[in-house]
Amino acid sequence: MKKIVVAVDGYSSCGKSTIAKQLAQYAGYTYVDTGAMYRAVALYIYEEWNGLRPTETDLVRFEDLSDEEMTAFLNEHIHISFIQTDNGQHVCLNGEDVESRIRTLETGNLASQVSTIGAVRRFLVAQQQKMGEEKGIVMDGRDIGTVVFPGAELKLFLTASAEVRAQRRYLELREKGGNPVFEDVLRDVEDRDYRDTHRAESPLKQADDAIVIDNTNMTREEQMQKVTELFESIVKGTSKNV
Ligand code: C5P
Repeated sequence: MKKIVVAVDGYSSCGKSTIAKQLAQYAGYTYVDTGAMYRAVALYIYEEWNGLRPTETDLVRFEDLSDEEMTAFLNEHIHISFIQTDNGQHVCLNGEDVESRIRTLETGNLASQVSTIGAVRRFLVAQQQKMGEEKGIVMDGRDIGTVVFPGAELKLFLTASAEVRAQRRYLELREKGGNPVFEDVLRDVEDRDYRDTHRAESPLKQADDAIVIDNTNMTREEQMQKVTELFESIVKGTSKNV
C-alpha cells in the first residue's frame, strides 16, 4: 500500500497529538510532534543559555542577534532528537531527555514566543522536511500542511472552543501533579491562539485543502473513526482528494 504524509494542524490543546499518535500507530507510521521541537529550542534559549548555564555568548540576548548569527547559533548549539521510552516518545535536547521539562505552561508560552522568530522556524522546518522524505509519517503542529508539507496527501485541521481546550489542558496539568488556575489556563490558550494566528512568519492558518475537524462535541472514538476513514480512502485511492 502506498505511504503518505499526514499533516495535523490546529489550535493549541485541541488534541492534535492524541489523534496524530493514534493514527500513526494505526498506520504503522512515524509520529513527529513539532511542538516538542519548538519547546526544546525555547528551553535551551531561555533556560540554559540565558540563565542556568551561561556561556561566553550569553552577553548578547538571543533576540539581539542578526538572522545569520541566530542560524549559526542554532546549528552550533541545538541538536534535537526523539527517543522511544516506555512512556511513549520523548524529545531530547543535545542528547538529554527533556520531556518533563518542556511540558510546563511556562515552556509552552516561551515556545510560542520563540516560534515567531524566522531563523528558528527555518532551522526546525528543514529538519522536519528531512524526517518526512520517505513518507509514512504523521506530523502535528501549526504549519505542517501549509509550510512543511504543502503537498501532504492528507491534511487535517483540528479545532474546538477555547473553553473546552482550556478545560482539557487544565485537567492534563492536574493529572501531572500541577495546581493550575483555570482562568490562567484559559488566558494562556487565548494568548497562544492570538500569537499563533498573528505572527508574521508562518501564522497558523488552515490550508485550502485541509479537512476541518471541530471536536468540541466529539468523543475521541468518533474522531478516530472519522480520521481512519479519511486515511483509508486516501491510501486506497478512493478519495476525491487524490
Ligand atoms: O503544540 P505545542 O503546544 O507543544 O507547541 C508549542 C508552541 O510551539 C505553540 O504554541 C506554537 O506557537 C509553536 N509551534 C509552532 N509551529 C509548530 C508547532 C508548534 O509555531 N509546527
